[in-house]
Amino acid sequence: MAKVESFNLDHTKVRAPYVRVAGKHLTPSGDTITKFDLRLAQPNQEYLGTGTMHTLEHLLAGNLRDHLTGIIDISPMGCRTGFYMVMDGEQNPEDVKLALEKTLVFVRDFDTVLPGVSELECGNYRDHNLQNAKDWARKVLEQGLIVQETVRIPDGVSSQ
Ligand SMILES: [Zn+2]
Repeated sequence: MAKVESFNLDHTKVRAPYVRVAGKHLTPSGDTITKFDLRLAQPNQEYLGTGTMHTLEHLLAGNLRDHLTGIIDISPMGCRTGFYMVMDGEQNPEDVKLALEKTLVFVRDFDTVLPGVSELECGNYRDHNLQNAKDWARKVLEQGLIVQETVRIPDGVSSQ
């Protein structure tokens, strides 16, 4: 199997909520792509419901782009503890942290119609939970985001 960055992260040694540079990729044409781990829930201790993740995905997709340029993609993690964000260029995690804080304030205070929620625009438009998304945004803001360094699992310890 190919090496997967997140399988080398020691999930017991991180402190969520956080922003972490998960990796940098140099394209054949010489451009840098930066991947971020936006972790909302403490791994293996808590996780978000699918409707909560889905609602956050819709709100993050638009609002984070209002605060950051160069976002290629924001996608939910399968473990439902956070999101990955892929960006053009070298990016400063402190800038991402500030932008995510602004977006979480936006989510916490959100009180209108969710964007993109219809049978036409979404692949599972019934599976949303705005109240839980707002509650998670409030919880993360109260806990306070940090910039988390990567803590690698030592060679020979992982299950691979
Ligand atoms: Zn959707």
